[in-house]
Amino acid sequence: MKTRKSITRAFCVELQQELSIVAARREYFSQEPPRARFNFLCSSEPCRAQGVKITGVRYDVKPQEHPTFVAAHFRANPHYEHHADCEWVDEADVAEDKPVLEENDAQTALRKVKRKLDDYIDVFDPTLKERTRSAPSRDKPLPPSEEPPASATPSSNASNNRQPTETRTHNLERLVDSFRQAQATLSKEELALLTLRVPGQGEVTLRSYFRHIKFAQLGDERRVLYGGGLVERYGIGFKFTFFDRLQGKQVTLYVSPAQMQAYRSSRYISELLSHADEVRFFTVFALGTLALSPSGKSVSVKIEDLRHLAIVLGPAKEAMPDTKNDTGSTGDPVRDA
Ligand SMILES: [Zn+2]
Repeated sequence: MKTRKSITRAFCVELQQELSIVAARREYFSQEPPRARFNFLCSSEPCRAQGVKITGVRYDVKPQEHPTFVAAHFRANPHYEHHADCEWVDEADVAEDKPVLEENDAQTALRKVKRKLDDYIDVFDPTLKERTRSAPSRDKPLPPSEEPPASATPSSNASNNRQPTETRTHNLERLVDSFRQAQATLSKEELALLTLRVPGQGEVTLRSYFRHIKFAQLGDERRVLYGGGLVERYGIGFKFTFFDRLQGKQVTLYVSPAQMQAYRSSRYISELLSHADEVRFFTVFALGTLALSPSGKSVSVKIEDLRHLAIVLGPAKEAMPDTKNDTGSTGDPVRDA
C-alpha cells in the first residue's frame, strides 16, 4: 500500500536503529569525511521484514537559512509498497477530505496544517536524561535520543483499530527544524493553529514557545531563545554574540572547551561552526536562562547542556553581495508577528 502520513522516523541500516531525519543528519555529519550516506528501511516491522526502503532527503545538507527552504525529511520510495499494517499507511485518510469521526472544524483545520509539515511535533520534553559520553573521542555514534511515539489515548472510534499516535521528542534540533519549516511554509493564520505540549508547562502555541532574543526577559526560562549573531572560537569552545541587544545590553552565549569535550555531538557543532568565514551569521536556538553579568552591562544565555542548543547556518556571504553595512541585521528567520 502507499503511505499517506508524513514519515517521521525510519530504520537506519548502518546504525541499526530507528531515528528521525534530524538525528540522521547529526549522525551523518558526526562521521569523519569522506562521509557515507545511509540506507533507510520503513520503521514498521512488517515492512522492514520485506526490505521496504525509505528515502532520506537532505539529511546530508547542513541546516541553513535559505530563501527556498526545504526541510530534511523522509519520503516513501515509489518502488516499494507498504504493508497494510504499516504505521505510515492511514486508511482513515484515504478518502481525502472525509472528516474523521468526532472531529470538529478546528481539529480538521489543524490536521490539514500538520499534514503540510514533514515532521510535526506534538510533545517536546526538554528533560535531560544523563547521557554524557565517557570517552573524549569515539567513532561509533551512540544511539540518538529518539523515542518511539507514545500512543495517544485509545481511540473511542472502535471501527478504527489504528490508534492515533503523537510525535514526541527530547531533541531540540528536531523541534527547531519543525518550527523553521512551519515558519517558512505556513501562513500566519496556519502557524497560529499549531500548539506544542511541554511536560510541566502544559500546552502552548508553537509560535510562543520560541522567543527572539530582543524580546526575551531576564528570568524567563521556559522558552527557546533565538537570534542571529557571530561566533568566536576559544579552542574547541566558542562564544556566540547576538546581533540584537536586550534592553540595550549585549547578549552572549559561551560554551567552554570542557563543555564541548564532554558532548557526544561536539563534532557536529564544530562542523557547523567551521563555516564561519562563509556565512553572514549563525542563528542560535537555546533553551536556557538569561543571567545579568556582575557588572550589569551584559547578559549571558546559560544552557545546562549542549543538547539544549541548536545552530543554523545563515545565508552564504556570496549570496548576499551587499553585506558591508548590514551587520545590524537581526538574523531573524521569523517574520515579524
Ligand atoms: Zn511501511
